[in-house]
Parts: sequence; C-alpha cells; structure tokens
Amino acid sequence: MSNLLERYAKIVGDIVIDHLRQLARPLQGMKVVHVNSTREGGGVAEILSWLVPLKQELGLDVKWELIIGEQGFYQCTKQFHNGLQGKPLVIPQELLVTYERTNAENADRMRRTLKEADFVFIHDPQPAPLMHFCPDRKGKWVWRCHIDLSRPYRTVWKYLRKFVVGYDASIWSLADFAQPMPHPLYLIAPSIDPLSPKNIELPTTEVNGVFARYGLNPDLPLILQVSRFDHFKDPLGVIEAYRLIKAFTPVQLVLAGGGAADDPEGDQVLHEVRMAAKNDPDIHILLLPSDAHREINALQRAATVCVQKSIREGFGLTVTEAMWKGKPVIGGDTGGIRLQVVNHHTGFLVNTPEGAALRIRYLLKNRQILENMGRKAREYVLTNFLVTRHLREYLILMVAMMHESADRIEM
Ligand code: UDP
Repeated sequence: MSNLLERYAKIVGDIVIDHLRQLARPLQGMKVVHVNSTREGGGVAEILSWLVPLKQELGLDVKWELIIGEQGFYQCTKQFHNGLQGKPLVIPQELLVTYERTNAENADRMRRTLKEADFVFIHDPQPAPLMHFCPDRKGKWVWRCHIDLSRPYRTVWKYLRKFVVGYDASIWSLADFAQPMPHPLYLIAPSIDPLSPKNIELPTTEVNGVFARYGLNPDLPLILQVSRFDHFKDPLGVIEAYRLIKAFTPVQLVLAGGGAADDPEGDQVLHEVRMAAKNDPDIHILLLPSDAHREINALQRAATVCVQKSIREGFGLTVTEAMWKGKPVIGGDTGGIRLQVVNHHTGFLVNTPEGAALRIRYLLKNRQILENMGRKAREYVLTNFLVTRHLREYLILMVAMMHESADRIEM
C-alpha cells in the first residue's frame, strides 16, 4: 500500500482502502479531467486539492484544469451563483456574451485534453458550456453541481440548463437540489480531507497560539464563523446573534474569511460587515490569505462554538471541518447544513439570529452537553463525510458509467 493510502487507512481502517483499490482496478490508466474556476478559495478548490492526487495515487491519469476569464466573466458567474441560489436578477446580455465567449476560448485552449479524456468532470456553472464547444468529445461528461439549487430563480436556471442537459450525467450534493434532467442523476455529498493542513491534528501550543496572534482574549468564550464574505453566509446575522448573547454574557466573535479568486462581491460584503461591527473590540474580522489552512484549523480548534449561519448553502465544508474538530455547529437550517447538523445531536439548526443566540447561550452554559455534542459531531464526520467515502462514490459512478447498459457489474 502506498504511503498516502496507508495514512488514510490509519483513520478509516484497511478495509475501506482495500475497497477503493478494488473499485479503481477497472479504471487503471483512464484519463480523467476535472475543470473548475479557481485553485484557491471556496469548497470546490478545497475538494479538488485532495481528490485529484488521491485518484492519481489509485492509478488514474488525472488532470485538474481551470477555466480562466476576464472580470466580466466572474461578474456573470457570480450572478449565476446568486440566481441559482434563489435571488431574482437579470443578467445583462453583454455578460452572457462574455460568459459564452470565455467558454469557447477555454475549450480551444484545452481542446486536446478534453477531447482525449475518458471522463470529464465539470464543476459548477462557470465551465458548464465547455461541452457545447467540444463537439468531437470521446469520453463521458459529468456536470457536478455544488450549489444549493433547491429554489433557483427560474430564468437563470433555464438559461444554464440548456448547457447542462446534454451531459451524460450530473452529480448533486442533496436530493433537494437535483433538477429534472434527461440523463442519470447521482447524489454525492462532499467531504473533507483529515490529512490536509486544514484538518490535521495540531499541537496544543499552536492552537492556543491563535489568541496572541490575532489579539483574542484567552479567557472569553470564542464564537467562530469561517466563510467567504458573501450574503448567503449571513455574516451580518452572526453579528446580530453575537450582540444578543453579549447582552447576557461576555463573549468574543471571530469572522474569519478571505476572498476566493472567482468571487467579485467579497469587498462589498466585507465593507457591510465592518460597518455592522462598529469597532467593537470583541468582534475580530480576520482577512486570511487563501493558504492559511493551518491558521483556520487552529481557530476552529480554539473556538468554543462554531457557527455557519448561512441562508443558502450547497454543503458547507466549514461545518464538516468544525465538526471534525469536535465542535458542535450552530448552522442555518438550509441545504447541505441539514445533512450534517443533526438537530440537538451534532449541533443546532437555526433560522434567525435570535435562534442562533439562544442555542449558543445554551451551549455556553452547559459545557458537558457542548462536549458530548462535539464528540458526536466528530463521529458523524468519521462515518459520513471523509474523503474516502467521497472517493468511493466517484469511483462507483465511473465504473457504473463505463457499463451503462449492463444489468450487473462484476468487480
Ligand atoms: N476557507 C478558507 N479561507 C477563508 C474562508 C474559507 O480556507 O477565508 C475555506 C473553508 O475552510 C472551507 C472552504 O473554504 O474549506 C469553504 O467551503 P464551503 O463549502 O464552506 O463554502 P463555499 O465557499 O464553497 O461556498
């Protein structure tokens, strides 16, 4: 067994790794391409940064390509993101032209790789039209949607759907998000990598070091939300909840975020967050570089309670990350957070700042319950949301697609 796989075996057990090797056997040497829009920032980049090397380790020939565009392209795709998550909006025609042109140009640049691939996985709306510009494709194309599409703004989805409908299959994080399609729909929940700098065990000194490094008070309970500055993550709601708690008990709040290369709205939201924080010395807005994985890891471990008060959420890797560190999560009652936060067991689902404040105060007062919930949260991630489960489902999907017409597949 390779060193890397051995390290995973120590966490999940040998049988799980043997199973992966068995599933990967019929896929040896297959050319696989993943395409998304950024190598850093956000959940998709986080997933691809382990998925690609692990598939390579299992003998597949995997490439990770990026779609690259100018400012208008990212403005357009951010609007898709907002529209698909339910915000009514009209995307100007010139942005749509830029979007399609950018896809055509990128398809030209990647033509050889895309044409020769046995499997192409296209992540999210940004590169969705690539297939349209690769008429000579030979492999199977799968559209992987990471977004909460439970209640899309119809005009936006109707436009995008025409690029997705011709794919051979699509993958969705939750049944609630899946839209009717003429091809097979697969449900695969995302996951975290327990060996990545973001999630690996850290020495206590490094965890406690965050208090001095970020000017935090080691004697005050620490409430943490890690997120891009995005309205769907509701950072203003988190500040409201913090104020409601603070009226009763001393606490401090950390909002840790940074930009994603493909998110042009972050500065505006950050400005609103700063205005709402009003120089409160116990609200710490931390702008971290995109490679600050160990720092986020340490903050999550140092936190008393982690929050992800999103109002729409494709999955919410930050929830998984916090739970893996034994923290109960106070999460918005939406999308992928519902899959992870088992209400009253691994955390609490909330719909309002008042609800978040109530649950956080309850946990701060009942430390034994907080610890028990944290233990259950970690256990839940171990069983359901680690890379090995995620990878197994990808491999099964690929084997299944290779034998599309078979009634039965012998492994
Ligand atoms: N993240 C980060 N730095 C930040 C903010 C977020 O590294 O400043 C990471 C976070 O730890 C998580 C991912 O980015 O791994 C965000 O994924 P999630 O699914 O929570 O949300 P998305 O940004 O994809 O909507």
